[in-house]
Amino acid sequence: MTGGRDQDRDQDRDPCDDVLSRMYFFIDNELAEADSQQIQQHIDACLPCLREVDVERIVKALIARSCTERAPRELRQRVMFSIRHVQLELGNPGGPFAPGPGTPDA
Ligand SMILES: [Zn+2]
Repeated sequence: MTGGRDQDRDQDRDPCDDVLSRMYFFIDNELAEADSQQIQQHIDACLPCLREVDVERIVKALIARSCTERAPRELRQRVMFSIRHVQLELGNPGGPFAPGPGTPDA
């Protein structure tokens, strides 16, 4: 829906693309606080982006723990698989990751 209440200069850019292109900096806390908050607000409301950020966070944490410079592809795939599995379990309607407030029901 286009309310036109906010004339955003980045309106022609996909906000998800913007978030995903910066999520590595976001995860590394390398963004300015305002940018970081912007992304946090987006992923709070956008499940696909939240998933992407979660995947990267978990992969990054595993890499840090194993002290290797690169995650082996096998490890990455295993992480992706387990995350997908968890999300299937969480994906039931009304679950903890239910859509944000004000979702029209009818
Ligand atoms: Zn998004």
